[in-house]
Amino acid sequence: MDIKEQLISLTPYQPGKPIEEVKKEYGLERIVKLASNENPYGCSPVVTETLLNNISKVAVYPDGYAGELRDTLARHLDVEPSQIIFGNGSDEVLQIICRALLSPGSNTVMATPTFPQYKHNAIIEGAEIREVPLLNGEHNLEGMLNEIDEHTKVVWICSPNNPTGNYVTDKNLLSFIEKVPSTTLVVIDEAYYEYVVANDYPETVPLLERFPNMMILRTFSKIYGLASLRIGYGIGNADFIKKIEPVREPFNTSRFSQVAATAAISDQMFVDKCKLKNREGIQQFIDFCDSHHVNYYPTQGNFILLDFAPLQGNEVFQYLLKHGYIVRSGNALGFPTCIRITVGCKEDNEEIISILSKMLKVKEQVS
Ligand SMILES: *Cc1c(COP(=O)(O)O)cnc(C)c1O
Repeated sequence: MDIKEQLISLTPYQPGKPIEEVKKEYGLERIVKLASNENPYGCSPVVTETLLNNISKVAVYPDGYAGELRDTLARHLDVEPSQIIFGNGSDEVLQIICRALLSPGSNTVMATPTFPQYKHNAIIEGAEIREVPLLNGEHNLEGMLNEIDEHTKVVWICSPNNPTGNYVTDKNLLSFIEKVPSTTLVVIDEAYYEYVVANDYPETVPLLERFPNMMILRTFSKIYGLASLRIGYGIGNADFIKKIEPVREPFNTSRFSQVAATAAISDQMFVDKCKLKNREGIQQFIDFCDSHHVNYYPTQGNFILLDFAPLQGNEVFQYLLKHGYIVRSGNALGFPTCIRITVGCKEDNEEIISILSKMLKVKEQVS
């Protein structure tokens, strides 16, 4: 059977080794996974309680319109309910965007390295991919503008960018969008929005009134701690959302994800606490880098990209794995001498830092 030609170049998502397997292989009792930017504090207790209260409703289809969540979120964001589209994770929202806008003959512009799903989904739709290398971990907005032509349907901005953690400032973003043709959709992926502390990080929602060709992606997977429930959303122009809605499956988000997300929004104290603890964790890693002369990318997310050159990311990854820590090797992320660590709780950060310090000492003696 013939599949779409463009699928041949793609590989399925490679999940990390199962924790149980790693435990057996290395004879470890405890494994800490700091690899997928999950929330080390879980989710709000309000969410857990809400889920338990809904457990008897398994047999009933969810509300395909996600009305209650939609109204709650619209109020929270100060937008119209019709400006929101929900997805089975924001991953699905970006897939919906690709299905709705991209086809052979069109192209799409993005940074590299960045979140891989933009490229992945665009390839499936047969669009031409135009990648513009980051400059010191930041989007090269001018370079991206130069790649946009009359066939460019979507341009992707990941801010904070995964895997570097760098962000696009409010001034730079505005002057970029002003120059993008109104026929090109600007998608701003803000999966880490709630973690950002930088003062010049743009508040993008108010920009939607001026730029109907703009869409913001956010998620409940990261700071809200609902990654396994799979729920994210896009915010955009109401007419545009209405046009792409037919691509969305009627029941793409479950009852449980909807009620959990609604409850999660109600507990902003939990979000504030996680944001604060995350920043303290980032500081632990920055202190480590400064005292050990390790380069890192300044991050606004809940992860940090550390550069151990001349070591390879895979080497550092293996060393940490042996000591019970799963991180992401930069080799798979376009940064071959780096590893990306998700910020954990204080004790886990301390321990992984002490393992890394020991590793550096050993490698120093060897060389
Ligand atoms: C984690 C992540 C997502 C996907 O999140 P889901 O809502 O779980 O699909 C999207 N974009 C970026 C940059 C991410 O890091």
